[in-house]
Amino acid sequence: MADFKTHTLVATVISGGLGVAALATGLATPADAFCYWLAGTLGGLLPDIDSDESLALRIVFRLFGALVAGLLAFYWMTTLPAWQVAGLACAGYLLVRFVLLALFARVTVHRGILHSLLANLLFGVVAVLLSYHLFALEVRQAWGIGGFVLMGATVHLLLDEIYSVDLAGMRIKRSFGTALKLTDWQQPGLTLLLLVASLTGFWLSPGASAWVQSLDLALPALSGMDALAVSDLLAWLQKGWQALRAV
Ligand SMILES: [Zn+2]
Repeated sequence: MADFKTHTLVATVISGGLGVAALATGLATPADAFCYWLAGTLGGLLPDIDSDESLALRIVFRLFGALVAGLLAFYWMTTLPAWQVAGLACAGYLLVRFVLLALFARVTVHRGILHSLLANLLFGVVAVLLSYHLFALEVRQAWGIGGFVLMGATVHLLLDEIYSVDLAGMRIKRSFGTALKLTDWQQPGLTLLLLVASLTGFWLSPGASAWVQSLDLALPALSGMDALAVSDLLAWLQKGWQALRAV
């Protein structure tokens, strides 16, 4: 199993690289790219929130607590005196950070259903919904954030699986096959619940057409670049082959 540091580092580097690529191809503004980078990094931590002692669990619940506190303050700030709003926000944060976290830790099992591709899909959809409905971001940005969360979480599962192969000794550890899975088939009820939740999430999400359109705009530029790179590579290989035959 890859540790927290490895997961954070890999997720940061990959989502940073992809964020820059999105910026370079005109798919994202600098602000979008920054949000995508954060979303990908957060996605890289999400599958381990089912591990009771993990730093990922505490980070995610701190963020969630801050979100709840912010929402409570935003909702009540015009109707209640400031000290009550502050008290309410603090209470909301503490409730999420300690009570909800303890409940969550009690009901989840490490490497259970939340450490699966199906759960990643749900994380992505929830990110789209929060970005669009709660933070009032544009459709394109909301789907971009959801996509990066999904990508980060999937990289996490892949990384755990890679780490279950002992590369030095070429042995396969017992944990092989437990990290990257479609779902936890031992839990058919929970699988169905996650599937229904993901589909409901998709149904509540804004249409992805705006995002697809911007991809359409960026693709010609991207494929032009690819064609160039491929022809360069072929020419280089041809040269190498000729040089080899000449020897
Ligand atoms: Zn993991």
